[in-house]
Amino acid sequence: MLASRHARLREKIRAEQLDAFVVTHLPNLFYLTNVTATAGIAVATADRLYLIIDFRYAGAVNALQQSSNAAPDTEVVPVERSYDETLVSLLARLKSSRVGVEGTQLSVSRFNRLRETVPDAVIVPVDEIVERLRLVKDEHEIDMLRRGALLLSAVAMDVLQDAKPGVMEQEVAAKIDWRIKSAGFERCSFDTIVASGPNAAQPHAHAGDRVLREGDLVVLDFGGVYGGYCVDLTRTIALGRPDGEMQRVYDAVLEAQKAAIASVRPGVRAGEVDAAARNTLGRHRLAEVFGHSTGHGLGVEIHEAPRVGPRREATSDQPAPPDDPIETGMVFTIEPGAYIPGWGGVRIEDDVLVTADGVEVLTNVPRDLRAS
Ligand code: ZN
Ligand code: ZN
Repeated sequence: MLASRHARLREKIRAEQLDAFVVTHLPNLFYLTNVTATAGIAVATADRLYLIIDFRYAGAVNALQQSSNAAPDTEVVPVERSYDETLVSLLARLKSSRVGVEGTQLSVSRFNRLRETVPDAVIVPVDEIVERLRLVKDEHEIDMLRRGALLLSAVAMDVLQDAKPGVMEQEVAAKIDWRIKSAGFERCSFDTIVASGPNAAQPHAHAGDRVLREGDLVVLDFGGVYGGYCVDLTRTIALGRPDGEMQRVYDAVLEAQKAAIASVRPGVRAGEVDAAARNTLGRHRLAEVFGHSTGHGLGVEIHEAPRVGPRREATSDQPAPPDDPIETGMVFTIEPGAYIPGWGGVRIEDDVLVTADGVEVLTNVPRDLRAS
């Protein structure tokens, strides 16, 4: 699995006419080496992948080299003095003359330092080479995401019981986090959102000190990291009997989510999936209160490509960016919502995998507006 990722990376390196490509973004490092670290650099060349890493990760590297996932082209380079000094001496040893770096990830000061210290080399920022490889998941990644989504669905069934009148948002969030970790996730994939009553009108509200009350709608948005892969789920519940307006808004968001899921298949544009949700909300006069994208890619990071959002328009100095086609093997969320200031909000989120003939919904939790 790592060997085939390296092979695909090499095609890109060749296409960009690079002698070496330096990976400093840690999620990309994990994707290429399976090593989870808080520091590390990978250098890919035409025939090797060098992993620069310090002694703290010796155990992880040994375990990797003995596993069936090991890629025979990988060579570990222990850090001497500092990461960047080790990188500079490796690049000098390789006599690379055109070196790519991750333009969207490397800091300007590190970039400048490399330019000054790597002799006889041109340092070229290149955008999102590894990120583009990560767009389509391989078998191992699909396996992790499928298992993670099922595990999160089981957690969700218990979580729906935690939100009760009289409990503070933060307490509910702490319980959710505890459930996620107890279920076997490595960690939460982002800060759990518990947004009750009027707080639910903000899509990115965090859990605060508001106490849940009878008559509230509560948005619960949480996720975990399983085997290095992020899954993500949102349910909205009513405390007590939902009134007519709550049910109307909820039903519209659910209809939008179903329409978006039904539109997913290989070859469709991400913008069309977004439009399926947005147009449905528009028919219910809720398009104006749906202010975010319909979904985001899931993988080593909680927000990654593809962006399932409205087609971006051209500006006076730039043409419209391409609207990415949806491909078999992509995994992303479908999470339309409606956010009404002073009233509250509704969001429903599931994780989907694009299959050869359509879509597989990975998460499995009832979607009716249940009164708890
Ligand atoms: Zn979410
Ligand atoms: Zn999400």
